[in-house]
Amino acid sequence: MTARILDGKAISERLTIEVRRAVDARCAAGKAAPGLAVVLVGEHAASQIYVRNKRRMTEAAGMRSFAVDLAADATEEALLRTIDRLNGDASVHGILVQLPLPKQIRSERVIEGIDWRKDVDGFHPYNVGRLVLKLPTLRPCTPYGCMRLLAETGEDLVGKHAVVIGQSNIVGRPMALELLMARCTVTICHSATRDLPGIVRRADIVVAAVGKANFVQGDWIAEGAIVIDVGINRNADGSLSGDVDFASARERAGWITPVPGGVGPMTIATLLANTLRAAELQDAQPRGSP
Ligand code: NAP
Repeated sequence: MTARILDGKAISERLTIEVRRAVDARCAAGKAAPGLAVVLVGEHAASQIYVRNKRRMTEAAGMRSFAVDLAADATEEALLRTIDRLNGDASVHGILVQLPLPKQIRSERVIEGIDWRKDVDGFHPYNVGRLVLKLPTLRPCTPYGCMRLLAETGEDLVGKHAVVIGQSNIVGRPMALELLMARCTVTICHSATRDLPGIVRRADIVVAAVGKANFVQGDWIAEGAIVIDVGINRNADGSLSGDVDFASARERAGWITPVPGGVGPMTIATLLANTLRAAELQDAQPRGSP
């Protein structure tokens, strides 16, 4: 079997157009265009590229983009003050702090400092808790994007065995919660998991979020499985590889995402969808209300 490709680039473009239409309708109704503040601390090379793309796509979706750049030696207090200012700015509906942060700054304190209504990354404990309770509000962008990709297969997810490799707060854990909410039977794997190939062989859906190039081998994949590759690994020659060995996995999978052009563009499109949702939340529930 040769897998069908889940084209994240094309699907994310469709989602971005949907968001753009909703933003235009919102503005035509006299409401403010959603505004997204993307905060970058320091000059981490990959982060600079991600931030540039996010800012560009925000404008392409008809939203306002606010660039907030702090020096690499900025203190935690300075970043928290910046966030507080953005929390109080009515033209800013979404706040994204690009991770990783320099080591002098505790990312959990920063995430907790963001007003949950503006937490477009979906990392605030309130939004994570809502997801745990099956009441998602602002959902972590990458897992949410993966769910949109799974929906595109047209396959019924109910009862499928989904194996998530990786348990990070930003990908693996919320991904497992999303799949559970879709009524999959979910196995979460991590670096202490025994017999990972054996577990993956029993998966109808595999989500790889490990951070190791070509880690998941084609002969681990069950015939016809759906393979979602979250990994973005930079090779020595500058090219990108996923966490799945694409060439061998596509010979067995039913569906597979490429890298680049799979999950990556979906993460930006769901960020835009979250920014719109955040603006709607703030229309209904201004800051200070419960
Ligand atoms: P992370 O925080 O480093 O987490 C990696 C996870 O992989 C950990 O849970 C770790 O287990 C697990 N792991 C490591 N070695 C393993 C092994 N040998 N067997 C099984 N599990 C193993 O990474 P992350 O932030 O989740 O990101 C994962 C990948 O996704 C990276 O390549 C990242 O660049 C990419 N990413 C892509 C997007 C996108 O938009 N496409 C967004 C975010 C991240 P332990 O918990 O036991 O250490």
